[in-house]
Amino acid sequence: MAQDSTAERVRRAMRDEVLDHVRRHGSASRPELESVLGMSRPTVAAVAQELLDSDLLTEHQGTGAGRGRPGRRLLPQYPPGAVVGVDLGHRHLGVAVATFDLTVQAEARSEVDVDGDPDAALSTVARLIRRLVDEVEADLRAHGTGTGLVTTCVAGVPGPLNAARQAVASPTILAGWSALDLAGELSERTGLTVHLDNDANLGALAEHRHGAARGNDNVIYVKASDGVGAGLIINGSPVHGSSGAAGEIGHTQITQDGAWCRCGNRGCLETIVSTQQILHQMAHLRPGESGPPPRLHEFADHPVARKIFAESGRTLGRVLANLCALLDPATVVIGGEMSQADAFVDGIRDSVRRLAQPGFDDRVQVSPAALGLRAELVGSLTLARDIALRAALT
Ligand SMILES: [Zn+2]
Repeated sequence: MAQDSTAERVRRAMRDEVLDHVRRHGSASRPELESVLGMSRPTVAAVAQELLDSDLLTEHQGTGAGRGRPGRRLLPQYPPGAVVGVDLGHRHLGVAVATFDLTVQAEARSEVDVDGDPDAALSTVARLIRRLVDEVEADLRAHGTGTGLVTTCVAGVPGPLNAARQAVASPTILAGWSALDLAGELSERTGLTVHLDNDANLGALAEHRHGAARGNDNVIYVKASDGVGAGLIINGSPVHGSSGAAGEIGHTQITQDGAWCRCGNRGCLETIVSTQQILHQMAHLRPGESGPPPRLHEFADHPVARKIFAESGRTLGRVLANLCALLDPATVVIGGEMSQADAFVDGIRDSVRRLAQPGFDDRVQVSPAALGLRAELVGSLTLARDIALRAALT
């Protein structure tokens, strides 16, 4: 009896491993699965057949030309349904609903003071989720795929999270949010299962799976926007730390007697490198102008602005060079609003290369996020999809 259940557990683990690999990579051949997962040919054949029989995989003839018969490739087959992703910034929020193949079906964005007015932000998020879910479910119904097919939501939050409590952890960063049972509250208002993650962790997941870090399993992703945070992937797995605060590099101290930071310390990286700081340094470039506050891209090609972006990039790059010495990543991906300025990314690259140990200076690739400003939202959809599919398997 005990032996049977052990054999069953092993069989299910192998099935999940094969399915996970095909879903992550979009397709795989049987020989690839044998070599990457270290499974024998009969094992891969049996597991693949089980997944084909349960409609979790489908098979297509490869189109490769050349020697021999083109290989048959296994492709993921997704059940009907959709997931919700939420990207909470400090001053905006975005919501998207996507089917399990991550095709976005509906999307909305709102400019809200997320930091200062959590109640209004929460109401807006809940309202947008309900509206978009209704739209997508009506569409799925029209195609005969039923209702109640949207069950899972992941929300990315721009601050340290207490993973166990599923809530904002810091009493000083996003102070108004720390007392809220954010996941519980959102779940109650939308009827969905809601999971939270740090926004930079979600950006890292998206760039690792679909973007600039695809194929590299040691990745640092940095979201450089109103704040600075990093998401870490080590040996293919996301790193959250013991309490969920891994990668909070925005509060690395740069100068001991620097400006006061919102976290309560002085001279943090965020007090020098952030969208607001850069806009402040560029204020003299549009003297006497009133109206709405400027956006970073308005300055992108100004020669003085380029210097300011480059210097900010070099400052962030010095912190990242230390992190590279610690973690030895293959890729550093720069996301967030500031990554839209080439001079900023060039400045980071300059510091990372200059401070790397001899022989390692050209090993780390520094790239802007391939998914641009959508990385965090795509990451929340990806994680929501993973969670929903895992729940459907068990
Ligand atoms: Zn700080």
